[in-house]
Amino acid sequence: MHAPMRTCVGCRAIRPQAELLRTRILLADGGEQVQVVPDEYIRTCAKRHGLSARGRSAYVCPARSCLERAARRGGFARGFARKMPAVNPTALWSAHGDALAGMIDLLNRSGSAAAPRVQRLAALATAMRAAVGRVC
Ligand SMILES: [Zn+2]
Repeated sequence: MHAPMRTCVGCRAIRPQAELLRTRILLADGGEQVQVVPDEYIRTCAKRHGLSARGRSAYVCPARSCLERAARRGGFARGFARKMPAVNPTALWSAHGDALAGMIDLLNRSGSAAAPRVQRLAALATAMRAAVGRVC
């Protein structure tokens, strides 16, 4: 089986999509407010608040250094192919941690069919914890 590959918008490494954090653009106030958020956030919280994601995804390694590099060097603007307001890498990093934990919790309650996804998300959460403080 051929795993889909994606490029990290921070370090530009090409890795299996399953090993990368997926980010989306969240639009609010008729598209005026643009925010980069974890994909899992879109699937859980955002819908409840009447917010929605638009367009493509951008992927980043589960390493804080990659988030910071992407935020500093316009990686998200490149990944989303649009002008972006500044991305706060600290906020986005903790949002990813929270979103992964929330999604794992949700999937765990939905039964064993979700086990492969839980495993994949748990691996990402572990990679994030291992990467804290690591410098690329
Ligand atoms: Zn990277």
